[in-house]
Amino acid sequence: MVISRSRLSSANLKLRLACVAAVLVFATTLLVTLSTLSVAERGMKAVIGDQQYTMLSGAASFMDDRIGARMAQVEALGAGIPLELRTDWARLPAFLKGQVRLWGAEEYLNLVVFDAEGELKLSLRELPGAQLINARGYDHFEAALAGKGRTISRPIRSRLTGHHIVVFSTPLKDAAGKVVAVLSGSVDLRRSGFLRQIGALKPGRTGYLFLMTDEGVVIDHPDESRLFQHVSSFPGMNQGTEQALAGFEGWLEARSEDGSESIYAYKHLRSTGWILAARYPQAEAFAPMITMRHNAFFGAGGLALASGLLAWVLVFRLLAPLQALRDNVAAIRHDRAEIDVLRDGRKDEIGELGRAFHALMAERERAESGRAASEKRLRMITDNLPVLISYMDREHRFQFGNATYEKWFGVAPAQLEGMPISQLLGDGIAAEVFPHLEQAFAGHGVTHEIRIPVRGEPRILQATYIPDVQPDGFVAGVYSLVHDMTHVKEVEEQLLQLARIDTLTGIANRRMFGEALHHALDRSQRSGRPLALAYLDIDHFKRINDTHGHGVGDEVLKEFARRLTVGVRATDTPARLSGDEFVVILEEIGGRPEAERIAAKIVEAMRAPFRTSAGLVQASTSVGVALSTPRQDQEQLLAAADTALYAAKGKGRDGYAVFEG
Ligand code: GH3
Ligand code: MG
Repeated sequence: MVISRSRLSSANLKLRLACVAAVLVFATTLLVTLSTLSVAERGMKAVIGDQQYTMLSGAASFMDDRIGARMAQVEALGAGIPLELRTDWARLPAFLKGQVRLWGAEEYLNLVVFDAEGELKLSLRELPGAQLINARGYDHFEAALAGKGRTISRPIRSRLTGHHIVVFSTPLKDAAGKVVAVLSGSVDLRRSGFLRQIGALKPGRTGYLFLMTDEGVVIDHPDESRLFQHVSSFPGMNQGTEQALAGFEGWLEARSEDGSESIYAYKHLRSTGWILAARYPQAEAFAPMITMRHNAFFGAGGLALASGLLAWVLVFRLLAPLQALRDNVAAIRHDRAEIDVLRDGRKDEIGELGRAFHALMAERERAESGRAASEKRLRMITDNLPVLISYMDREHRFQFGNATYEKWFGVAPAQLEGMPISQLLGDGIAAEVFPHLEQAFAGHGVTHEIRIPVRGEPRILQATYIPDVQPDGFVAGVYSLVHDMTHVKEVEEQLLQLARIDTLTGIANRRMFGEALHHALDRSQRSGRPLALAYLDIDHFKRINDTHGHGVGDEVLKEFARRLTVGVRATDTPARLSGDEFVVILEEIGGRPEAERIAAKIVEAMRAPFRTSAGLVQASTSVGVALSTPRQDQEQLLAAADTALYAAKGKGRDGYAVFEG
């Protein structure tokens, strides 16, 4: 599962790299091609524009030449008319017909002559209603009449054909140089041929030439509906035409009335001031460019696809060692290979990566074995310590426990892991432990004692809990250390006992006597029954010491204590206060007689000779007995007994005295 996912992601990387390569190639190719095309387009536009304008200039000069030639013809014809015929309306027609025949010039629609008053005097072709024609007011006539030499009219409608014509006029002068008549030759522009000739120069298939007067009246246009209309009468007159009417010559880009971009060129005719224009739609002009753009797009796409495939193959090959490295790492993880397979000796970055992995894994292995050794050491230490060491989580489950748990409770460390503390100790003991544990989980160190049966024996254990406080203050668990304190407690008890027993005689010492008297007085006060305190001192004990030695003195002291113990009731407490001084607490004493009886019995018991290492030794004792009174304290009672002893000694020793407060 894991392997297949990583294979997929590695395939994804290859796909991504291949895609990146393809996109880069596509973008670069497209960018370079389009920018090159854009530069080429600009250059091409300039070339086409210049070409258009040059062509147009040629056509304009051709037209100028043709117009000039027509004009020259009319002028020459006028100049060739003999002076006497110039106003001889009867003979002039024959002369003109003869001249025209000589030229063979059928291009003229008609030749007419006006007299100085503008009246039509002659027409080579018969005009309908000719006698009504008067040329006064026509610009070309007036200009010719004013002696301005040859003139060319605006386009006007022919009476003969109804077509539009232009009229070339030249003045006819008499001998005195006065203009006596005007000779005019009319030409049908569209039929005369010269417009057709320049029409062959139209740009491209969809481009065309058009001609208009300097005032904007269309003279020639492929759309016949526009003929002899003013350009402004059509919707969407282009900017170029507007500029041309204002005198512009040259080429520019402009939007046609149909919304398409075109290259327009304008040239003014020298002879007439008319404007010859050419329109070349960009759609046609740049058709090769558009094709090239499409080709570039598809070319770039193809190139990108090819480079993507190539990149895929290359990436696949280049990443193969990476794949091998990944497989090796996986094999090492699953213990199917040693880490040395990572050092395959490649010189490239993948080889370096492999070596880096190797170094990392070697370091990890070293650290791992170091940690394992250290853990083993720690385990050994904890397992061999005669204490319980464990770690508990917040659910009071053991996460770790040393081997002592097995020794004490028969639960192996592995079994202990995850075991709730209540399961190990039983609910009763766990309930005793929980309050202390809760304190530890609240972040406090805790030590407490608890009695737990261990291997069937009751033990006193001392548990110490240390909270495992995380850096954020959270207590993750509790370390627990448990000692068996049973033996210590026993020793402590013994020591306590020892501190209360006289080492020489084995009976209670002064300390224990103090405690016993305290309790006895309490009891006496509670019950209201008096107690008696007998104070004993061996008579002339110094002498025994002096005579037989200290050791024998000790033997006497021991025997004295023994006799004292057997001579009183088990509930009575004999004690040695110091040296040869002893006391006996006699509880629940009936009264003075009973006290005296006991005192006498003690005195009697000591009269028997003492068997010692130095033989029999004779000794005796004096006893002072004090009977307690209510609200009497220890010291007072002891002082009373001491007084009684003093009295007994005073009476000659080997006897007793009773003091009754
Ligand atoms: P009295 O009849 O007035 O009591 O005379 P006495 O000689 O007994 O005098 P006292 O009680 O004052 O002397 C006690 C002596 O006990 C003094 C000391 O040398 C001796 N003594 C004290 N402690 C020990 C002991 O532990 N062992 C021995 N052998 N002698 C002790
Ligand atoms: Mg004495």
